[in-house]
Amino acid sequence: MNYLLVGLVTLVVLVGLIVGSIKLMSSLPNSLKNISLFLERLPGIGEKTANRLAFFLLNLPDEDLKEFAENVATLKLKTKLCKKCFNFTEDETCEICNDQKRDQSVTCVVETVLDLLSFEQGRIYNGVYHVLHGKIDPLNRMGPEDIKIRELISKIKDQKSKIKEIILATNPDMEGEATAMYIKSKLTGLRVNELKITRLAYGLPMGANLEYADYMTLKKAIEGRNKF
Ligand code: ZN
Repeated sequence: MNYLLVGLVTLVVLVGLIVGSIKLMSSLPNSLKNISLFLERLPGIGEKTANRLAFFLLNLPDEDLKEFAENVATLKLKTKLCKKCFNFTEDETCEICNDQKRDQSVTCVVETVLDLLSFEQGRIYNGVYHVLHGKIDPLNRMGPEDIKIRELISKIKDQKSKIKEIILATNPDMEGEATAMYIKSKLTGLRVNELKITRLAYGLPMGANLEYADYMTLKKAIEGRNKF
C-alpha cells in the first residue's frame, strides 16, 4: 500500500515538473525559445542554464551579438584540420607545426584537441603533436580505422621523417590503454634504432591522499617510482 502511495506521489511530482517546464518554455517567444532549445543541446547545459544564456545573449550589445553570430556562421567553413598533426587550424598547417622553436623530433599522440590544449595551457611541452580524434572503443563502434592511426604510421614510415620519440599520451582508461597498446604494436619494428616509444607516467595527482587512492593508481605509482 505504502509503495503504491509513494509511486503515486512520484508520478504526480513528475507530471507537475514536466507541465511546469512546458509552461515555462511556452511563455517564451519563439525567437528566445529556439535559441534556448539549441543551447540545451550543448554538453552540460540544462534547461534553466540554457534560458539564462539565451537571456544573456539577448542583453548583449548589437555589435557583440552580430560578431558572435558571424563567427558561428563561418565556424565550419573556416576551421580545418592541420595536414601534419590534425590540430584545428585555419591554414594548411597549424601554429604549433609551423613553430621552428618547437622540437619536431618529439611527437605527443593525444586523443583530442582538448588534450593538446591541456598540455599547451601548462606550457610543459615543447614538441609537436598528433591528434587521433578519438580512441579505439568497440562498444561505441570506434575501430583503429576510424581514428588517425594510419596517418601516424605513414608519418613515421616516411623516409624524410625527423621523429625520434613518440609519446603515447592517450588517457589512462581502458580504451586509452587499448589505443596505446595498438599503436605500440603497429610501431614495433619500424625504424628500430632511431625511434623511441614512451607512455605518460601513471601515478598520484598532486595533493592526493594515499588513503583514498584506488588500487590500480597505487599499483601504477609504485611500479613507476623514480629515484629521489
Ligand atoms: Zn599541426
